Amino acid sequence: MYGEKLELLIDGKFRQGSEGKGEDLINPATEEVLAHLPHASTADLEEALQASQRGFIAWKAKTAQERYVIMSKAANLIEERKEAIARILTMENGKPLAESIGEVQFSADATRWYAEEGKRAYGRIVPARVPGVRQMVFKEPVGPVVAFAAWNFPASNAIRKIAGALGAGCSIILKPAEETPGTAIAFARAFQEAGLPDGVLNIVFGNPAEVSEYLVASPIPKKVSLTGSTRVGKLLQKQAADTLKRCTMELGGHAPVIVHHDADLEKTLDMLVAFKYRNAGQVCTSPTRFYVHESLYDKFAAGFAERVSRLKVGYGLDEGVQMGPMIAPRRLDAMDKLIADAVSNGAKVIAGGERLGNKGYFFAPTALRDVNDNALIMSEEPFGPIAPTTAFSDFDSVIERANSLEYGLASFVFTKDLHLAQKTEMALNAGLVGVNGMAVSTPETPFGGVNESGYGSESGTEGLEAFLRTKFVSETGWA
Ligand code: NAD
Repeated sequence: MYGEKLELLIDGKFRQGSEGKGEDLINPATEEVLAHLPHASTADLEEALQASQRGFIAWKAKTAQERYVIMSKAANLIEERKEAIARILTMENGKPLAESIGEVQFSADATRWYAEEGKRAYGRIVPARVPGVRQMVFKEPVGPVVAFAAWNFPASNAIRKIAGALGAGCSIILKPAEETPGTAIAFARAFQEAGLPDGVLNIVFGNPAEVSEYLVASPIPKKVSLTGSTRVGKLLQKQAADTLKRCTMELGGHAPVIVHHDADLEKTLDMLVAFKYRNAGQVCTSPTRFYVHESLYDKFAAGFAERVSRLKVGYGLDEGVQMGPMIAPRRLDAMDKLIADAVSNGAKVIAGGERLGNKGYFFAPTALRDVNDNALIMSEEPFGPIAPTTAFSDFDSVIERANSLEYGLASFVFTKDLHLAQKTEMALNAGLVGVNGMAVSTPETPFGGVNESGYGSESGTEGLEAFLRTKFVSETGWA
């Protein structure tokens, strides 16, 4: 059973849309209809905007300690309900239950971290040039926020926005992805039950383009935060320009992996295969271009293919499943197209390569070797379970190839040589670099990209800063 009632949250009330519109929510593993998702009408969106304005005033008036108490209660509720929320997440998104549980735990941890960090929105005192004057710099919440989140991490994409805004003292209207609405609703219930004032957190759904156009055009929100594609990022940034709203853009990526000649091959392969097929490769930091030193290449490709062939694909709620379905049938078509193009450019399929079964949106974990740099998959974000691999011969050429795209989110390096690791880290154009490891996202550390992967960080002190503005006060005493 699905287990979540799909509703909007506007001004503290969970309810249906005022015009009765909506859409069916589909389980990507079974193609069954899970529930009906209500859409917000324009009147509902306007109500959410007005509520977020009132919610902002109420929430900003609270001390950071008061906000901390409510947020940590919500974090505890999320953690207590971890298994149930994770099941909802897996039914909507398809990823294995263990991955969903990890994501919900991350969300509880991130909520606690932002609740704490909100107490440290420090300003500073600047010595004045004139006697009797005190110069003070304050950090204030930026205002109501509108946020949009992608379906690939229904929990962590949503919580980074909710907890970041709330920790800083902002209110928020979040539009989670319509493909995966239940997790954010479950989180919203936890926040409301923890005592969040009405209007501080609002959740809406609808036609994405129409909802974002309406919300972003309003003068009420002072900030836009998006986790999504580069295409939509550019669109929302243009819309935000009309009211000069600040933006945080967490966008697409195409992560290079550089495996140097001296890498520990077995460990590297274990880590890369586990990480590549996480969430069926539908991860913005997923390794997507594998550059392997020519001296290791044949062994690497064989070891990779062998590990891929052992992966268990299936419904995320079933025991032992390591990879679930893709989110929608259009993604299966995209995989077919990328593989056909790579093969026509000389690549060889060494594992997988085709759709699986005739129910659910399953695609076999796939690995390609000898992929030409001109193949589409080397420049278009694959966002799926395909690993294109290729060999390199020297440092300068591999850095040039790794840095050749406009994307700059994650990147990975494998070597035992500290000097080589540092040289590679420094040379990569990316917001995140993993050296001999893949963990580039924690609640405490800044997460974000450069160039067309976006700008502004979530998590870490930078994540809180993104929801703050600066006020300078120059105070002259009369005595
Ligand atoms: P998307 O851009 O299509 O949608 C992202 C969100 O924006 C959704 O909630 C969507 O409904 C909403 N949206 C708002 N206005 C829209 C409009 N005019 N048209 C369409 N959607 C609009 O992204 P997606 O395909 O759902 O997600 C995959 C993308 O997200 C990938 O490119 C991936 O790399 C990226 N992503 C980035 C990060 C990061 O932190 N950098 C994390 C996860 C996913």
